[in-house]
Amino acid sequence: MNTTTSGDREPLVRVANVTKSFRGAGGVGRRRKDVSAVDDVTLEIYEGETLGLVGESGSGKSTLARAVLMLQPPTSGSVSFGTKDLTKTTKRALRRMRSEMQLVFQDPFSSVNPRSTVERILLEPLELHTSLTRSAREARVVELLDQVGLGSKFLHRRPHEMSGGQLQRVAIARALAVQPRLVVLDEPVSALDVSVQEQVIALLDRLQNELDLTYLFIAHDLAVVHAVSDRVAVMYLGQVVEIGPASLLYSQPRHPYTVALLSAAPIPDPLVERSRERIVLAGDIPDPADPPTGCRLHTRCWLRSRLGNPELCASHRPALTYTPDGHGAACHFQDETDGDRVAVGPTEANADQETIGAERIQEEAEMKEWT
Ligand code: ADP
Ligand code: MG
Repeated sequence: MNTTTSGDREPLVRVANVTKSFRGAGGVGRRRKDVSAVDDVTLEIYEGETLGLVGESGSGKSTLARAVLMLQPPTSGSVSFGTKDLTKTTKRALRRMRSEMQLVFQDPFSSVNPRSTVERILLEPLELHTSLTRSAREARVVELLDQVGLGSKFLHRRPHEMSGGQLQRVAIARALAVQPRLVVLDEPVSALDVSVQEQVIALLDRLQNELDLTYLFIAHDLAVVHAVSDRVAVMYLGQVVEIGPASLLYSQPRHPYTVALLSAAPIPDPLVERSRERIVLAGDIPDPADPPTGCRLHTRCWLRSRLGNPELCASHRPALTYTPDGHGAACHFQDETDGDRVAVGPTEANADQETIGAERIQEEAEMKEWT
C-alpha cells in the first residue's frame, strides 16, 4: 500500500462504460444466451495506488482485468492508459505497450514453462522488449532476483524445484523485468499458504514503493484486499456495486452487498464475533446469462426485504453515486445501510481455489500470447 493518498494523483487507467459479453456462453442448445461477464463498468486507477478488486467467484474480476489489458478487448466502452485510448490502438502498437502493463496470475506453475530455468524465464521478456546487451541482460536478471528476495542461487533452478511462493516471486520478477507502470495481479496469493501470502504481500508493497508501481490487485478474500489496497472496488454479477477508499469501505460500507460480504470475513476477536449481527444473502448467485432486472442484487438483498421489497429495485438499475470523499455505491437505498453494523453471512472463502484447474489452462494460453 502506498502511503500517499490517491487524491493528488492522476488516473493512469480510465475504464469507461466497459462491457464484455461472451457470445452464446450461457444457456443450452437453441436457447443459448450471451453472458455479459462485465456490464457497464466505469472506474479509474490512479498513478501509484493499489486498487483492490473483490467479488465472489464468477463476478467478472478476471474478465475486467483482461479487458483493461486488452487481452480480451471489451465489447463496448473504452480503456485508456495514460493518454492513449487502448480500444483505438492497433495490435502492433499494443504489443509495443505491453512492457508498460504486466500481469501476474494466481498459479505461477501454469504461467511459466516447466522446463525452463529461472534464468531463462527472466531473460525472455528482456530479449523481447529491451535492447539490452547480453551481459546487461544477465546482470539485470540477477538484480531482479535480488529485488524479489530470491538471489542468484535461484538462477539455475527449475519450477518443480521451487515452492509456490518462490515461483510466484519469479513470476513477479518476470513482470517487473520490463519496468512496467501498471501490474495487474489476478489472485496472486490465493493459491499460497497464509504465512507465504503475507510475505508476498510485503514484497509487493516494498516493490511498489521502490518502483512507483500502480497495482490492480484482484482477490476474493476481503482481508487480503484490505491489507494491500488504497482503494477497493466490489463487483457483483459483472457490475461494480461499491468503490472507495479502503478505510471507508471497510468501516462504513454503503452497499448492502458489501455489508454482506464483510460479514463473511471472520473477525479475530471472539467477543465481537459472538455479538455481531448475522446478515445473509438469500439464495445463490443468479445465472450470469440471465441476470435479474433492475438492481442485480435485488433477488437476494437483505436490505430490500427489510424495506418491504420496493419495486424500484426490480425495475431500475441504480447508478453509482459518489460522496465527496470519493466513496461510490450503486443502491437506491444506500443511505439506509447502517455503516456501523458488523454482520455475518455465508462465506465462500476458498471457493476460487476450485477454479484453479480451469483457469490454469486459460492462463497458460494467455501467457504464451503475452510474452
Ligand atoms: P471471476 O474472475 O470474478 O471469478 P470471471 O471474470 O472469470 O470471474 O467470469 C465472469 C463470468 O464470465 C463467469 O460467468 C464466467 O463463466 C464467464 N466467462 C469468463 N470467461 C469466459 C469465456 N472466455 N467464455 C465464456 N464465458 C466466460
Ligand atoms: Mg478470476
